[in-house]
Amino acid sequence: MEAAEVRRLLEETQALLNGHFLLSSGKHSDKYFQCARVLASPARASLLGAGIGSRWSDALVDAVVGPAIGGIVIAHEVARYLGTPSYFTEREAGKMALRRGFSLEAGTKVVVVEDVVTTGGSAQEVVDLLKSMGVEVVGVSSIVWRSPDPHAPSPFGELPFRPLMTLPTDAWDVANCPLCKQGKPFHKPGSRTGPAAAPSAPVAPPSAETSANAAEAGK
Ligand SMILES: [Zn+2]
Repeated sequence: MEAAEVRRLLEETQALLNGHFLLSSGKHSDKYFQCARVLASPARASLLGAGIGSRWSDALVDAVVGPAIGGIVIAHEVARYLGTPSYFTEREAGKMALRRGFSLEAGTKVVVVEDVVTTGGSAQEVVDLLKSMGVEVVGVSSIVWRSPDPHAPSPFGELPFRPLMTLPTDAWDVANCPLCKQGKPFHKPGSRTGPAAAPSAPVAPPSAETSANAAEAGK
């Protein structure tokens, strides 16, 4: 799956908005990103899961593990593609843990999957937890790597890191915002007015599903 295809899925579900936004950090940006919006579409989540899964098909992975909450849906879709179980970790007293009777034997090969990696903190905690259990972590994947610099080193060091796309984290203090200087009005994403408002109707399914549905209806 090419980065351009990932971008298209993000934009058509308004997971990625282009414009002039006030972020929760108080900074301004020309982009707003909310990955949960693309994963709200099961068909698109499956496509992204296959995109990530295909990057690990030769790794003989035994299981996929993602950190809750962001990693749950996409890890599940990657596991569907690879034909493995999907587990998730949760924080227990602030510490990443495998709960709910999920267990992994030492020597098991696992890929760690997250929706968005920025500094890689949560995914690294999952990696550390799994390694402490004797699990062999083959690598980390995410739908998006939010990197301040497209040539920045991987946050996971030597461990293979395979994001589907890199999205720069351009954000400015209001005083330095180039869009404010151009006089463009800004919007707070999720507010009910303006072009950044949440979509009121469900987004259309991607074309593959549309044709599948059409075939189904034609029976
Ligand atoms: Zn601005």
